Order: sequence, then C-alpha cells, then structure tokens
Amino acid sequence: MNQFVFCPTCASKLLEEERGGAMRMVCPDATCGFVHWNNPIPVVGAIVEHPEGIVLVQSIGWPAHFFGLVTGFLEQIETPAEAALREIKEEIGLSGELGEFVGFYPFRRMNQIIMVYHVKVEGEVTLDREELADFRIVPIDKVRPWKAGTGYALMEWLNKRGYEPEFIELS
Ligand SMILES: [Zn+2]
Repeated sequence: MNQFVFCPTCASKLLEEERGGAMRMVCPDATCGFVHWNNPIPVVGAIVEHPEGIVLVQSIGWPAHFFGLVTGFLEQIETPAEAALREIKEEIGLSGELGEFVGFYPFRRMNQIIMVYHVKVEGEVTLDREELADFRIVPIDKVRPWKAGTGYALMEWLNKRGYEPEFIELS
C-alpha cells in the first residue's frame, strides 16, 4: 500500500531499487533524484475523558462493534497538541482541556506513528456525521483496549491509573 507509480516531482515512471538498506520506489531521472522513502505518517490521537467515561468513536465504514480513539492528521501549521484539541472539537463538538502526553505508538498497517494525548472534556457530544457513524462513552472501569496502535496507548494509560482490563479481540 501507499506506493507511488509515477514520480510526484517529474512524472517519470518510478523503478524499484535498493536505497538505504531497503527496496524503495526511485525516480530514474538523475536530475530529479526523487526517492519514495515511505516514512511513517504522523497522526495525533486522544484519550478523551468525559465525567461519564472515555469517549470512543466509530468512523463511517468500520465494523459495528469497533470503536476507537479520536484521531486525525496534523495541519501544516499545528503542534501535535493543537491538532489533538482541534480533532476533538471537530469530531465530537467539545472543547478539550489538554492533559498529559501519553506516548508514541506505531500503527504499522497504516504506516503511521500516532502521538497520543490525554484530554478532558465535559458536556454533550455532537458527532461529526460526515466522518463518524457513532460514539460511546464507556465508564473507565469498563473500557477494553484493542491490540493495535491506539489500543496500546489506552491500555498503558489505564494501567497507570490502576485499571487492568483485558484486550478485546477484534477481527
Ligand atoms: Zn522524478
């Protein structure tokens, strides 16, 4: 996934060649020199804590039983923390209060590195119906993380607070 066929700089057809110890898609035009390194894409995520529990969201098209953290891409002008607060505002309509930085979590299937924050919110959720299908507020002692990207962030955050849930098996 995530492979270019043509050079995004000069439109030559890319070739697969070894660069820096791995096979990469490389521009054959020596004056161009483009290499598709396929570095992970930074993404922000938020463990959104509401007085009633953790707010989990379901993107449109996800299986009905799958809910995850609020996540999104950074805009060019933003810090990761600003991006996390903006995504919460956009996706669930609430202004967040930034808590701790939880950590960096690789999400290899999507070639992303997710920077996760803890953010507190209050009030009524208004869902962004263009992106999201549904949401849940799960009491903190009932939340069960999943074995992928942001799920590990949620597990570590819960463990630090003395909760020891089991991972949920998603397929
Ligand atoms: Zn090129």
